[in-house]
Amino acid sequence: MLTTTWHSRYNLNSRLKTKFRRKLIALQKTNPCITPFTNKTKDLASNWWGKAWNANLKKYTVNNIHLEKGKLLFRCEALADFKIDSNTIKAIVLGSKIKPYEIKITIKPVSEAKWASIQGFYEGYLECFEKILDNHFPGEMSDIFSNKATGIFPSQSEMSFTCSCSERANLCKHTAVALYALGAKIDNDPKLLFKLRGVDILDLISKSIHSNRKSILKKAKIKSLKILKNTDLSDIFNIEIQTGRNL
Ligand SMILES: [Zn+2]
Repeated sequence: MLTTTWHSRYNLNSRLKTKFRRKLIALQKTNPCITPFTNKTKDLASNWWGKAWNANLKKYTVNNIHLEKGKLLFRCEALADFKIDSNTIKAIVLGSKIKPYEIKITIKPVSEAKWASIQGFYEGYLECFEKILDNHFPGEMSDIFSNKATGIFPSQSEMSFTCSCSERANLCKHTAVALYALGAKIDNDPKLLFKLRGVDILDLISKSIHSNRKSILKKAKIKSLKILKNTDLSDIFNIEIQTGRNL
């Protein structure tokens, strides 16, 4: 029974892939600007931040069926085109009708106050920054994405979606395809999410380093003054210090 279900699902996916590949070739002939989406990640996401983005999608809809359908369509390569420009994502998704669906997703930038609070919160995470520069976010910084107060995943009111289909739902299955594609992109390049929110993770790193440097130097200065105060200078310079009275 299980084998039959797996086979029928495999056959459906395989048929859909073949159908969408044919449609994509036809679309490219009429629209040379089409850039087929290349999924560099394994399946939907392989890193914790990519998986966290996909789990986060549930907060943008009350209907999980659209997400499930979008997931299937993304896996079956229904996404024909995907472009990111600043805080806007435009996608073209193939479907059952001749005309493909056009999707637009807009993400609001992080407010200055929230970004300042995020920067302050992660000031002490110096040991994590080297890994971030290598495009790897350590698990101990998971809140920087998903935490409501100190994370940069957009809230429901910070995201807007439009699709050319007739679906009345705010987040239709075609929009879900584009959101899973964004998850795959973020999985490969987590810094992309910061760019979409109008901030630069390098700012957070450089400000933290600067602030920590100042605090370390301040501590070092106090410590060295204390050492000097408690040390016999004649020992340091190996000389006999004479007072003016003895001269
Ligand atoms: Zn749609």
